[in-house]
Amino acid sequence: MTDTDGRQEYEVVVVGGGPAGLQSALYTTRLGHDTALVDRGGGRAAMMLDTHNVIGVTEDQSGNEFLATARQQLEEYGTDIYRDFVADAEQLDDGRFRLVGNEGEFVAERIVLGVGFNDKRPDPPLPRTGKGLHYCLHCDAYMFVDESVYVMGHSDSAAYVAMIMLNFTDEVDILLRGEEPSWSDETDELVRAHPVDIIDEEISGMTKRDDGWLESFEFEDGTVREYKGGFAMYGSEYNTALFEQLGVERNDDGTVPVDDHGRTSVDGVFAVGDITPGHNQIPVAMGKGAQAGIAIHMELREFPKNRDEIRADGEVTLEEVPGISTGLLDKAKQFNQSHADD
Ligand SMILES: Cc1cc2nc3c(=O)[nH]c(=O)nc-3n(C[C@H](O)[C@H](O)[C@H](O)COP(=O)(O)OP(=O)(O)OC[C@H]3O[C@@H](n4cnc5c(N)ncnc54)[C@H](O)[C@@H]3O)c2cc1C
Repeated sequence: MTDTDGRQEYEVVVVGGGPAGLQSALYTTRLGHDTALVDRGGGRAAMMLDTHNVIGVTEDQSGNEFLATARQQLEEYGTDIYRDFVADAEQLDDGRFRLVGNEGEFVAERIVLGVGFNDKRPDPPLPRTGKGLHYCLHCDAYMFVDESVYVMGHSDSAAYVAMIMLNFTDEVDILLRGEEPSWSDETDELVRAHPVDIIDEEISGMTKRDDGWLESFEFEDGTVREYKGGFAMYGSEYNTALFEQLGVERNDDGTVPVDDHGRTSVDGVFAVGDITPGHNQIPVAMGKGAQAGIAIHMELREFPKNRDEIRADGEVTLEEVPGISTGLLDKAKQFNQSHADD
């Protein structure tokens, strides 16, 4: 990192410290590129009370524990981590990118935006997220096998998630909470042909068990229904502001289209994780982060020089190698030495 007029200059700046951004930063740092990770905290992974579907990570680890371990790993490799919210982004005349946070300013040759989205939350009364209120079907369906489950919402997605839950249990209700269904006629025909109860009434109250898990909802007509938990399906708010400022193409649903390596429509800007189309899962986000990190290394690495460069600049001399920056070289030697001593 170099500090020029109060700007921190890096080869790579990653915005967003969820699993996707962390994984990109891990690769770019370990592959020898000065990297900063700027994260405001929070995000979807931080909402996990326990972690499912991630090989090598036990279920009892919370999202915050998982992320803290990852940040510690990155710092050991030499990533600079900043707690900040990046509010503005622009491309400079020299092709690099300028990112302005509330606390600092960054300039980088490549930027990775792993900024994710926020799940729209229904109105209260609601159980605690992870203890009866859930947002991730492929994460949490397993914990509802043979249990009584609700799906809150009135969209096509709500109807589909309810029908999908029949793969796991025979007790599934859709809670419309006083709203008219907005799903299509075709969905209506389908959902009514599956053994799903559609409850119109708004929720008026809730009881919880001693361990904090949801026990039951009370409805305005006085009925009470018991549930282990369920899913809220009110859509997603994508964090698109930085993409808009940079002129990056977006899909109608708010996601950012990318190639297999996370490249967006603007050269040098990469997008990873939940902000891109596909399954919203930690292993998937990490895979996308890894692809982008390796692609950036292949774009930025100094060697081998190509024939045109050798013809123009002459053979590579010993003084020019290794390509890794002095800071990261020292960090890697220190890391490797401490692990050799273990
Ligand atoms: C309640 C819940 C439970 C889940 N459980 C599981 C599970 O068990 N297993 C599983 O595989 N998946 C699970 N998921 C899905 C998983 O959390 C996401 O797929 C994953 O976190 C996506 O990673 P990401 O890095 O793209 O986004 P996120 O984890 O959302 O991280 C994005 C980060 O970017 C930051 N950010 C955004 N904008 C800015 C900005 N302008 N400046 C700085 N920082 C910014 C955010 O603060 C956040 O830290 C769960 C999701 C939820 C909501």
